[in-house]
Amino acid sequence: MESIFGLSLNDLTEQLSLLGLRPFVAKQIYDWLYKKRIFAFESMTNIKKEIVPLLNEHFDTTLLHMKRKQESPLTNKYLFELADGSLIEAVLMRHDYGISVCVSSQVGCNMGCSFCESGRLKKIRDLKASEMVREILMIEEDIKRRISSVVIMGIGEPFDNYDEVMKFMKIINEPLGLAIGARHITVSTSGIIPKIRAYADEPMQTNLAISLHAPNNEIRNKIMKVNKAYPIEELITSIKEYIEKTNRRVTIEYLLLDGVNDTKECAIELAQLLRGMNVYVNLIPYNETSHLEYKKSSKKSIDDFFDTLKKRGINVTIRKEFGGNIDAACGQLRANEVER
Ligand code: SAH
Ligand code: SF4
Repeated sequence: MESIFGLSLNDLTEQLSLLGLRPFVAKQIYDWLYKKRIFAFESMTNIKKEIVPLLNEHFDTTLLHMKRKQESPLTNKYLFELADGSLIEAVLMRHDYGISVCVSSQVGCNMGCSFCESGRLKKIRDLKASEMVREILMIEEDIKRRISSVVIMGIGEPFDNYDEVMKFMKIINEPLGLAIGARHITVSTSGIIPKIRAYADEPMQTNLAISLHAPNNEIRNKIMKVNKAYPIEELITSIKEYIEKTNRRVTIEYLLLDGVNDTKECAIELAQLLRGMNVYVNLIPYNETSHLEYKKSSKKSIDDFFDTLKKRGINVTIRKEFGGNIDAACGQLRANEVER
């Protein structure tokens, strides 16, 4: 049986028409699921009793199982169990401007970045759009509030699961559904160039973030295997093309690893690489994990790196540290659970 949460309003309308049902029924169902938060067809009072068995036969409306939750003042971290027993994480962050959620796109990750817990545990499978949609629903049900923005930066490489991720973005953007504005949805990639090109042609005005983490091939090859297939100069070219085509500013994520990519020379080289591009750089303090050797850059190195970029006219911010105390970085909660 198919999960109803993997269907866009158009898809649902089409499927219902195959069952002999009219388009307005799809809108009614969407309204119950995403606005009123009633998930059982039986309880959808304007749906005719006679068609309830038919709906139950075709569409699964179960949510996910919340296996664990860690709460701190600024973040909640969730561990969800999927129907097949796989574990994924999602993180909620409270900002001044609203609530954002970071969702996972795969169970594990095959990109193998040397600093990352998700990569250390390898990909088991891709997530379905319906599972990603339910990450959001589960969190909204838990906090009884609406989420204002979504980043696809949890476990997994979203562009290695491109079609389902695009479907997910479309579903959560649907005005009659969750209605999360396209400008409040961001997908982050380690740099799969053909998919960056495809993404530039998508009709939705959603955002792109690139995990760059190094200013040259020498360093990037050491920490991100993906760079061997898609080297940095080609990556930068594809980002320039994306900006040209979409007119949208791109976020460059730069994780600061002590002694690896955080020197003044690196900052100067990065500023040169990004000169004239409509990007802003988000410097990410590394969240140390018990399994990996890397250390977080010192406060002084982070501030110096920031100043060097700033002086050279690069838009730059230092990411607020949200999850340090609750294992909130990419894949850490799951990693602890899987190995227990
Ligand atoms: N696979 C995609 C999206 C998920 S990773 C990507 O790589 O962009 C999301 C971000 O978390 C990436 O920028 C990644 O480099 C970063 N990250 C991974 N491990 C981290 C850690 N321990 N501390 C801080 N950031 C981390
Ligand atoms: Fe995968 Fe992103 Fe982690 Fe790299 S940083 S291993 S691409 S999840």
